[in-house]
Amino acid sequence: MINDTIIQLLKDIIKDEKRILTDKVDLYSYSYDSSFGVYLPDVVVQPKETEEVAEMMKLANKYEIPVCPRGQGTSLSGGPLPVKGGIVFDLSKWDNKLIIDAEDMVAVVSPGVITADINNAAIEVGMIYPPDPSSSNVSTIGGNLAENSGGPRGLKYGVTKDYVIGLEVVTPEGEVIRTGGRTVKNVTGYDLTKLIVGSEGTLGIITEATLRLFPKPQANQTLMAVFDDIVDSGRAITNILSSGILPSKLEIMDNATINAVESYEPLGLPIEAEALLLIELDGHPAAIEDEIVRVQQVCESTQASEVRIANTAEEASELWRARKLVSPAIVREKPTKISEDATIPRSKIPEMFKRLKEIREKYHINLVVFGHAGDGNLHPNIIADKRDQEEMHRVEKAVEEIFEAAIELGGTLSGEHGIGTLKAPFMEMELGEIGLDMMKRIKESWDPKNVLNPGKIFPEPGQRLVLTNG
Ligand SMILES: Cc1cc2nc3c(=O)[nH]c(=O)nc-3n(C[C@H](O)[C@H](O)[C@H](O)COP(=O)(O)OP(=O)(O)OC[C@H]3O[C@@H](n4cnc5c(N)ncnc54)[C@H](O)[C@@H]3O)c2cc1C
Repeated sequence: MINDTIIQLLKDIIKDEKRILTDKVDLYSYSYDSSFGVYLPDVVVQPKETEEVAEMMKLANKYEIPVCPRGQGTSLSGGPLPVKGGIVFDLSKWDNKLIIDAEDMVAVVSPGVITADINNAAIEVGMIYPPDPSSSNVSTIGGNLAENSGGPRGLKYGVTKDYVIGLEVVTPEGEVIRTGGRTVKNVTGYDLTKLIVGSEGTLGIITEATLRLFPKPQANQTLMAVFDDIVDSGRAITNILSSGILPSKLEIMDNATINAVESYEPLGLPIEAEALLLIELDGHPAAIEDEIVRVQQVCESTQASEVRIANTAEEASELWRARKLVSPAIVREKPTKISEDATIPRSKIPEMFKRLKEIREKYHINLVVFGHAGDGNLHPNIIADKRDQEEMHRVEKAVEEIFEAAIELGGTLSGEHGIGTLKAPFMEMELGEIGLDMMKRIKESWDPKNVLNPGKIFPEPGQRLVLTNG
C-alpha cells in the first residue's frame, strides 16, 4: 500500500526527514497503546503544522491509505492502533502553542500539549482547566478531545466536551475547517465541535482547540469514609448528593482495591472494610467548613464505621495517595490489567456491585472495582496474565457480561475511555441497530473513503472481543 513513491510524496510535504519514521524499530514504538494488540504502521509522520496535516490527508485520501491520529498512546480502548496499517500521525510533538487568555477565560492549544500543563498554566492566573483524567500528566489534549476524557472532577465539573468551545480540524479529505469559536454562547447551526469531540479520530484531525477555563476554587477539603457494607457506601453517595452538596470528587475503592494498595504500600487503610469513599469539597472556605461536617453526618448516619477528615493539605494528599496508587498496586499480582469503565446511573451502584461480585465468582477472575462513583463511572479492572490463554478467554466472557450488566441497568459501555476497537462489538447492544446506523451514516458522509482511523468504533461483521493477540 505504501511504496517509495508515497514516501517521497510525504517527504515533499514534511521537509524535515527526521519527522518521517520508517525503521522497524520506530514503527514498533507506534504499534501499541495502553490496551491490547500490536499492529505495525507502514510509516509514522510527526506533523507540526496544519498545512502539513491537510496536505498529507489529501494524499492519503487520494491513494486511500489509512491514517491513524495518535497522541501519547495512553488509550485504554485501542483508539490509536493502526489496525489496517497505513500512516500514523504522531501529534504528540506538536506542543508549541499554549496561550492563556485571562480576559476571555480561554486557553488556545495545539494538539500535542500535555493536559496537566494546561491546568498548570491556568492556575498561574487564578483559573483552572477542570478535566483531569488520571493520565493528565502524560496524555495530550488532542487525545483527550478525541476520547472526550473525564476524571475525578467530572462529578462537579463535567468532562472534556464541557470545556471545548472551538476547534480547528482537518477533514478526511484534507480541508481545514473551524468549528465553534471563542464565545461561551454559540448556537449557530449544528454543533460540529461536540460531534468531533469524542469521535476518536474517525471524523477529523484536531489541530487546535479553544478551551474554557474556570475560576480557581478558593479552598478545598478532603474526607475519607469507611464502610463495612458496600451497599451502605452506595446509599451514602445518594444521600450526600440529595442533601444538596456537590463534591468536586467522590471516589470509591472496594475491598480488593484497598488490600492491593495496602500491601503495595502500607498507608494504614482499613483492610477489613468492604468499601471506602474519598470525598473532596471545593469552593468558598466558609461553605466548605459547613459542608464537610454535613457530609460527615450523612456518612455516619449511613453506617460509616469511620470518618477521617483531613485537616491540612498534607493530610489530604496522604488520603488521595491511596487512590493514586491503585493502578501500580493492582498490577503487582499479575501483569495484565483490563481496565473497563462501564458506567451506570448512580442509583444502580449497589446493584452493579452485586453483579460484579457474581461475575468475579462465575469466571474465577481477579476483579477489583474503584472509580468515580459520584457520577456512576465505575472502573472494574481485571488483573490477569495475557500469556495464559485459558484465563484470557474467561476474561473475555467476563468483560462481555460486565457490559451487559451495565446496559441492563440503564448505563453505558464507556464513561470516559471511548470505544476504539475493544468495545466496537458491543455498540449495537447500547445504541440499537438504527442508532448505530445513524452514526455510520455520519462517518460515511464525512469520510466516504474510510481513510481516517478505520476499524474503530464500528464493528466489522461478526467482530467479537478478543484479548488474546496482544
Ligand atoms: C494509567 C491511565 C489512567 C487513565 N485515566 C484516565 C481517566 O481518568 N480518564 C480518562 O478519560 N481516560 C483515562 N485514561 C485513558 C487515556 O489516557 C485517555 O483516553 C487520553 O485521552 C488519551 O490521550 P492520548 O494523548 O494518549 O491519546 P492516544 O491514546 O494516542 O489516542 C486516543 C484517541 O485519540 C485520537 N487522537 C489523538 N490525537 C488526536 C487528534 N489531534 N485529532 C484527532 N484524533 C486524535 C486517536 O486516534 C485515538 O482514537 C487513562 C489511561 C491510563 C494509561
